[in-house]
Amino acid sequence: MEFWFTEKQTERFGITMKIKRTLHSEKTAFQQLDMVETEEFGNMLLLDGMVMTTEKDEFVYHEMVTHVPLFTHPNPKHVLVVGGGDGGAIREVIKHPSVEKATLVDIDGKVIEYSKKYLPTIACALEDARVDVQVDDGFMHIAKSENEYDVIMVDSTEPVGPAAKLFERGFYEGISKALKEDGIFVAQTDNPWFHQDLITNVYKDVQEIFPITRLYTCNIPTYPSGMWTFTIGSKKHDPLKVEATRFHEIDTKYYTKDIHNAAFVLPKFVQDLLK
Ligand code: SAM
Repeated sequence: MEFWFTEKQTERFGITMKIKRTLHSEKTAFQQLDMVETEEFGNMLLLDGMVMTTEKDEFVYHEMVTHVPLFTHPNPKHVLVVGGGDGGAIREVIKHPSVEKATLVDIDGKVIEYSKKYLPTIACALEDARVDVQVDDGFMHIAKSENEYDVIMVDSTEPVGPAAKLFERGFYEGISKALKEDGIFVAQTDNPWFHQDLITNVYKDVQEIFPITRLYTCNIPTYPSGMWTFTIGSKKHDPLKVEATRFHEIDTKYYTKDIHNAAFVLPKFVQDLLK
């Protein structure tokens, strides 16, 4: 018998993958967690029926959520990842030699536990000496932080359940306070085919708080529509004006200096969402 999983984006469109077997299934205190083995993309983490990451294409998202802000900041030392319990963003963060401490705050310890077990190539840096893993609400962590971080990445689930407040204006105000005076943050802001209002609203909120606001995209086959967006808010450093000499050699599969710059070139229908 064949098993196929579909993440429904709307009642008329979804992404479908053939499943070999279920590795773990559990209702945690925060969300439904499923770890499955797919035929095409290796092991895959699902939260509330939505694809979070797969072994085959995870590098695109994790490299793009991290290296774009980290190469934009001239000397990132203290970095925070909100969400990101699979560990992929942290694995990329600690590739930067300037980083002295990388803090990860995910609300759900079960995501961390099962990512370590079933996604070892993604979660592999969570035990690194520079990494501080905290199981806590990212919203509360930000509310308590002041002038602490050089770079903050919001690697959250979609804006439902515990992540809904991570897409609100008050959260971005908190991030601004939590960042140092030349800090920079990035948030994943879903896809421009089915979440146009979200992109428009987040961009507007960030623009009202940060002097520099930018949107960039990348391509991820297992995320709905394939095209994914990230929104940057920066106090001082512009991701479009990174000196060529700042890009140092780093082991990546998607991110390059040219991709960094090209990712900010937006199709017209995406540009129109930001007006
Ligand atoms: N890359 C994925 C995507 O865009 O689909 C998201 C990665 S997944 C690991 C996101 C994580 O955000 C989950 O582990 C979830 O537990 C966490 N999360 C959701 N709400 C949170 C909150 N309020 N504070 C901290 N972590 C949160």
